[in-house]
Amino acid sequence: MSKFIDSRLGALEEYVPGEQPRDKKYIKLNTNEFPYPPAPGVIAAVSAAEVADLRLYSDPTCKALKEKLAARYEVTPENVFVGNGSDEVLNFAFAAYCRGGAAFPDISYGFYPVFAELYGIDSEIIPLNEDLSIDPAQYCSKGKAVVIANPNAPTGLCMPVGAIERIVKTNPDNVVIVDEAYVDFGGESATALTKKYENLLVVGTFSKSRALAGARVGFGIGDCALIRDLEKIKYCTNPYNINRLSLVAAEAALDARAYYDEKDALVAETREKAQADLRALGFAATESKANFIFAKHAKLPGAALYEALKARGILVRHFTVPRIRDWNRITVGTPEEMKTLIENIKEILNGLE
Ligand SMILES: *Cc1c(COP(=O)(O)O)cnc(C)c1O
Repeated sequence: MSKFIDSRLGALEEYVPGEQPRDKKYIKLNTNEFPYPPAPGVIAAVSAAEVADLRLYSDPTCKALKEKLAARYEVTPENVFVGNGSDEVLNFAFAAYCRGGAAFPDISYGFYPVFAELYGIDSEIIPLNEDLSIDPAQYCSKGKAVVIANPNAPTGLCMPVGAIERIVKTNPDNVVIVDEAYVDFGGESATALTKKYENLLVVGTFSKSRALAGARVGFGIGDCALIRDLEKIKYCTNPYNINRLSLVAAEAALDARAYYDEKDALVAETREKAQADLRALGFAATESKANFIFAKHAKLPGAALYEALKARGILVRHFTVPRIRDWNRITVGTPEEMKTLIENIKEILNGLE
């Protein structure tokens, strides 16, 4: 770092993304990417003509994409914000709504504490229950903003929408941010509640269930006043926040709902099978409703499993946070990839005896 950086920014602890190695070909089960390609219509939409149009700025209002998102979530385009990945939506929401403090779980998406620190926000870190579930009662009547991932990451555990509603209802003077990055794999969405409560912001993404992690498109759904807040921050930072190719890709993805519904269901089915296979090998695994499995084995420390799999060309995600360091988060790949994973884990376990 240079001597010129603002000392407060220089002292920030950065978010550490999962590895994106270029050295060799891994079976990549570490960053919750989709195992199947985007829908054929998406690939066709990113045409030579669209590439030629890159000389022009993108639509700062994201009009066409907002209209399609509004239709999909049964709201109006004024209820939709589009961000450069849901990370940008979360970033803006922390900037806008958390001045008076923010409450979120000790084990959740690792970006929340980073945004909190970036904006000098007081965080109240609420421990998960012993079984790694969220206790909704601990988020009621907080008197500060609440941030919850549902399903939560990296546990994959879901809260029913009724519990979300209780949290939203008992915090009428603060915004409740519900991050639904994984909802399409078996969770329950709270988007319908945004019509009833002015303090609920639901955040979604095209990165996980729509095979567009590299396109960087996320969205927020909420009361039109909340959306105007986020637009304000966007127009104060980067009005053309979504590039032209990502806009057409995301629009085409929404036109291909049947393709994604089928593939998301296949991922959920593959998850259930792999989860059962791991339990049969002696793993404890959470009841994940996301596109990853969260598992630990009594005889194999989390880091050891991570290293052994990496040596065999399989990448999973290991977190060094003390409370979950015995665990690994394993993205659900194709059935073939999961078969290879299970075979390798069997060999690693056999080698212990
Ligand atoms: C992956 C992830 C995101 C970020 O997604 P992008 O849209 O790719 O920025 C947000 N929240 C959670 C919980 C995630 O796991």
